[in-house]
Amino acid sequence: MNVTRRDFLKAGTIGGAAATVLGFDLTPAQAQLRELKIARATETRSTCPYCSVSCGVLIYTLGDKAKNVTPQVVHVEGDPDHPINRGTLCPKGASLEQDILNPRRLMKPQVRRPGSDHWEDISWDAAIDEIGRKVKKTRDDSFVEKDAQGRTVNRCEGMAFTGGCTDTNEFNFLVVKTMRSLGVCYLENQARV
Ligand code: SF4
Repeated sequence: MNVTRRDFLKAGTIGGAAATVLGFDLTPAQAQLRELKIARATETRSTCPYCSVSCGVLIYTLGDKAKNVTPQVVHVEGDPDHPINRGTLCPKGASLEQDILNPRRLMKPQVRRPGSDHWEDISWDAAIDEIGRKVKKTRDDSFVEKDAQGRTVNRCEGMAFTGGCTDTNEFNFLVVKTMRSLGVCYLENQARV
């Protein structure tokens, strides 16, 4: 059989199609592979953290459920019972397992000093202290009590806050309260449900 590179890629893309150009029906093998992968795993329903579509996901973990053992994530897929995505995930959501397992994930705060060409790790305590000092100084330097017409505005014009799609409703609630109490009016975040 003469299989071109294009045919081979097409077969790989189609994946679950009943017949491939190689003449094998891979559907039962693929279904069995999935079953083997999650056979002894615990299924947990969750929500993709990447964007405000909030697709439902099933996370499969292996572990003996002992309190001192962290379960190992072995598989993530779309939740077929979820009303938003009905089992589908976009490419980003489909790579969600990497959000948990990839060794290149950032696990510590980092800072890039003025004039530096690289990021350096700092401790959480140092990062919180530094952020606190900078917020205080920026607010002191840029707080406006009255506008040009003499009206009381009490706003901080030197800071802005932008939230990401992984922020929960509760986190966003606290952010809005905190930023408003500082007088920050340039505030944007993404809704989650
Ligand atoms: S799977 Fe894609 S569309 Fe769905 S929530 Fe995640 S990033 Fe958004």
